[in-house]
Amino acid sequence: MGKRIGVLTSGGDAPGMNAAIRAVVRKAIHDGDEVFGIRYGYRGLAEGDIFQMAERDVSDLTARGGTMLYTARYPEFQDEEGRRLAIEQLKKHGIDSLVVIGGDGSYRGAASLAAEGIQTVGIPGTIDNDIPGTEYTIGFDTACNTALEAIDKIRDTATSHLRTFVIEVMGRNAGDIAVWTGIGSGAEQIIIPEAEFNMDEIVANIEEGQRRGKKHSIIILAEGVMEGHEFADKLYEYDDYHARVTVLGHVQRGGAPTARDRVLAAQFGFKAVELLHEGASGVCVGISGEKIISTDINEALQSKGHSHTSQVDLYNINSEISF
Ligand code: ADP
Repeated sequence: MGKRIGVLTSGGDAPGMNAAIRAVVRKAIHDGDEVFGIRYGYRGLAEGDIFQMAERDVSDLTARGGTMLYTARYPEFQDEEGRRLAIEQLKKHGIDSLVVIGGDGSYRGAASLAAEGIQTVGIPGTIDNDIPGTEYTIGFDTACNTALEAIDKIRDTATSHLRTFVIEVMGRNAGDIAVWTGIGSGAEQIIIPEAEFNMDEIVANIEEGQRRGKKHSIIILAEGVMEGHEFADKLYEYDDYHARVTVLGHVQRGGAPTARDRVLAAQFGFKAVELLHEGASGVCVGISGEKIISTDINEALQSKGHSHTSQVDLYNINSEISF
């Protein structure tokens, strides 16, 4: 007899979540399981917003950003009562296992359900690339490409006016989007939470660039360091520097996923269903060295995020090629 698998998306949305839902639904149905979509994350689970999904429910979904299952924050899930309601609904619908697509908060929810005997597997979905147990999360590549497109456009105007631009990108407490878009756009400076910054050096670099005939200076600032306007104020206080500020904001969360995110989502969704068939629970899928892997969620959460070493390596590369 096949399994009865629930699938939900939780926390912040990310492009490619839909492609992951599609992979879970199709792989499960292919293997003879029944699949149930749960709308609005853990809130919908507790409230019983649950419907059976057929293979055609996920047609034409891979190319769409956002999540067809919607997402929500539901702090009550940290309390026993919230989880009791959720488990009651799972029992009512005869759902024996759950695929949770989301960030580390969503993983904590999945781990606590696993501790209460519900079979769960997590899939890392967030643009911030800050989830443990994987080198890349679904949505990161798309967000970087969206940001790059915008930064390239800002560069055109920055060159025309010999201007300094501060561009604030997302990433929560991680500098991954900043590092990737900084290198990708040839930015003069990248400022990330994982590395100290020094205003003397920043201003010296801008001035050195001008002496070398640079037409503009682009500073990519990770939101985890501070807000773009705050940084521009500091530059002004430091040396009367007038920097223009662009906050890219939520455009980075939307749009059609890139090939990379669609494929990653398909691999993760496929692996999640395989893991459920193997009887795994309280685990999350990830990618490491181009291999799809799984890790115990609690172990992953204790490992303090994914390896930031590679981001710092990239950061160092940029400091040597951006003059
Ligand atoms: P993300 O999954 O993107 O990190 P959040 O941190 O907002 O986003 O978490 C998403 C949801 O996961 C929360 O709204 C809550 O329902 C659930 N959650 C978060 N932390 C916990 C926790 N410690 N225990 C149980 N559920 C949690």
